[in-house]
Amino acid sequence: MIEYYTPEQEIEVQQDMEELASYETFDGYQNASELTAIYPESCAIEYLALGLVSEAGEVAGKVKKALRDGTWNSEAVADELGDVLWYVSQLATELDIYLSDIAKMNLEKLQDRKERGVLGGSGDKR
Ligand SMILES: [Mg+2]
Repeated sequence: MIEYYTPEQEIEVQQDMEELASYETFDGYQNASELTAIYPESCAIEYLALGLVSEAGEVAGKVKKALRDGTWNSEAVADELGDVLWYVSQLATELDIYLSDIAKMNLEKLQDRKERGVLGGSGDKR
């Protein structure tokens, strides 16, 4: 079905699309990245978790090659980090969590650990 918009509605739709495409905020990125999401809904979480681990492995592969060759390809690493970000974003979307909330929670956790002097060490609940 084709929908026709009034000129005012077209402007509003265009503004919404520009907002969605904004990469300046976590949530703007999250909204925009959703526009390129193609995977089976029946196994979305599993698909995205596997994709996340796969892309993290690609980051590790670039680091490994840098160690071997003695030169960094920062652009290639950034490309893979972008792929990691996409999977993190989509996983958050599927779990109905804003990327900005994840970023905030993570920084609060790390700040709390820093204040308690437990940034080093191990354990999820330290
Ligand atoms: Mg990749």
